[in-house]
Amino acid sequence: MGGAGESAVRGSSSGGLFALLGKGVRRRPGVSVLTARGFTMVGVAIIGAGFAGICMAIRLRQGGIDDFTVYEKADELGGVWRDNTYPGAGCDIPSVLYSYSFAQRDDWSRVFPEQHEILRYLHDCAREFGIDGRIELGVEVRSAGWDEGTSAWHLETSRGPRTARALVSAVGQLNRPRYPDLPGLDSFAGTAFHSSRWRHDHDLTGRTVAVIGTGPSAVQLVPRIAERVRRLYVFQRSANWLVPKSDRAYGPTARRVFRIPAARLAARGATYLRGETAVYWAVHGDPGAKLVETMARRHLADQVAEPRLRERLTPDFPIGCKRILISSDFYPTLTRDHVELVTDLITEVLPTGPRTAVRDYAVDTLIHGTGFLATEFLRPMEITGRAGVRLHDVWRDGAAAHLGMTVPRFPNLFLLYGPGTNLGHNSIVYMIESQVAYVVRKLRGERVHEVTEAEFEADQRELRANLAGTALEANCTSWYKDANGRVTTNWPSHTYRYRLATWLA
Ligand code: NAP
Repeated sequence: MGGAGESAVRGSSSGGLFALLGKGVRRRPGVSVLTARGFTMVGVAIIGAGFAGICMAIRLRQGGIDDFTVYEKADELGGVWRDNTYPGAGCDIPSVLYSYSFAQRDDWSRVFPEQHEILRYLHDCAREFGIDGRIELGVEVRSAGWDEGTSAWHLETSRGPRTARALVSAVGQLNRPRYPDLPGLDSFAGTAFHSSRWRHDHDLTGRTVAVIGTGPSAVQLVPRIAERVRRLYVFQRSANWLVPKSDRAYGPTARRVFRIPAARLAARGATYLRGETAVYWAVHGDPGAKLVETMARRHLADQVAEPRLRERLTPDFPIGCKRILISSDFYPTLTRDHVELVTDLITEVLPTGPRTAVRDYAVDTLIHGTGFLATEFLRPMEITGRAGVRLHDVWRDGAAAHLGMTVPRFPNLFLLYGPGTNLGHNSIVYMIESQVAYVVRKLRGERVHEVTEAEFEADQRELRANLAGTALEANCTSWYKDANGRVTTNWPSHTYRYRLATWLA
C-alpha cells in the first residue's frame, strides 16, 4: 500500500518535461517566472488544494520537481473537508486508511475522526512537507487552453493569466452542490442552505427544520441537529442500505500502540482488506451482497421496532447500487418523538415549506442534503485541447479518461480523482496516491505526455466490461450515473488492480 512513494521517484528525467524547462526558461527552482509574453509561467499548475492537490504537490517536490503552483479558488486549503462543516461531518473510512501512506499519524482521536480533525491533518501535511507556501489562495482557474506553439497551457484565472507546461486538475467530484429541482424552491421564505454550505450563523435551536435527502451527508447531520431542533422532518426519496458504524475513541493504550509503525501498518492493512473484500463483494453480487444485505437488514430490525417505519426504510434496489451508508445513530433518531420520516414525494416548495401530495409542512429552515453535481467533471472550467477541441464537447456523452487521468488531444493534462476512479468500497486516498505516482513518473519521463486514442479506447472497453453486471449499474438513482444513466464516476474493480494498471501504463 505504500507503493506510491516508491513509484513516485521512478522513471528517467532525461528528456522529460523538466529537462526542457531547465533549458528553455530562465528560472530558479520553485519560483514561477514572467515570460516574454507577460504570462506567469510555472512548470506544473495544480488546480485545487484538497486531498489530491496537496498530495500532488508533496509528491512533485519529493520527486525533484519543484516548479509547481497550486491554485485554490477558496481562501483556505482542504477541499471537501473545508467545505463540509455541517454538524457530524466526518469520513466513513477510518483515518488509518483515509490518510496519506507517507504521512501516517499516531494521534487520531477516534476510528472515524470528524471533519475538523481531517482538515487539520491536511493543514499539517501541507506545512510539514513544505508546500503550504506554494498554494495561491483565492485564485479561481476559469479556463485553460493548450497552445501548440509553446507546448504549454494558458490559463485564465480570477487573478489574470498564467502559463504552465503541465496542468493537473485536482478539483474532485464532490465540489459543486446539487440543489433539488423542485418548483417554488426560490420562493421559500425561511432560511435554506446546502449541507456543504452550512450556515453557522443560523442557530437551529428550537426551530422547525426540513432536511431533504437521506444520503451520507444527511445521515450524519440529522442525528446531530435533532438534539437541538423543536421539530424535524426528514424527506426521503429512496431508502438506503445502511450498516452499523463501529466507531470509538482511541484511548491512551491504543495511541501508544499506534506509535509503533508496524502496528499502524497492520491496522491500515486490515482496514484496506476489509474494504477490498466485504464491500467490494457487495457490489459484485452474491454471496457478498447477501452477506452485507443481511447485516443491514439486521441493523434495521435491531434499531427500528415499528414495522411500518422499518418497511419505509427498506431499500428496493440491490445493495451496492449506490453508496452503502454507515451509521449507528440515524435510525434511532428517526424514532424520536419530534422527528418524522416523510416518504411522500415533495411536489413543490411553498414560501412556508415543502408540499407533498398529502400535506404541507410548515418549517422555518430547509436543509438540502441533496448531494453534488458529481458527473459534471471539471465544470464550470473551459478546457480546450489540440486544435481548439473542447473537453466538454468530447464528454458530451459522458466523462471518460484513460485510467481516469488522461484524454487524447489534451496533452500534459492530468486529472486526479477523475472519471471512473471513485470508490464505494475503499479509501479514495489510495486511488489518489496511485494517480499522483503516475503523473510524477510521466512528467519526469516525457516532455509532452498524451494518451493515444487506441490506449484510451482499450481502457474504456475494459472499464465498461468490469462495470457490466455490477450493482453499480442496477436500477437506482445514484450520483454515480450521469444524465444518460451511464456510470461515469466509479472504478468497479479492486483498487490494487487500479494501482497495478497505473504502474504498467
Ligand atoms: P447524495 O449521496 O447524492 O445524496 C443525496 C440525497 O438527496 C439522496 O437521498 C437523494 O435521493 C436526495 N435527493 C436529491 N434530490 C432530491 C429531490 N429533488 N427530492 C428529494 N430528495 C432528493 O449526497 P450526499 O449525502 O451529500 O453524499 C454525496 C457523497 O459525498 C457520498 O456518496 C460520499 O461519497 C460523500 N460523502 C461522504 C461522507 C462520508 O465519508 N461519511 C459523508 C458525506 C458525503 P435519492 O437517493 O432518491 O436520489
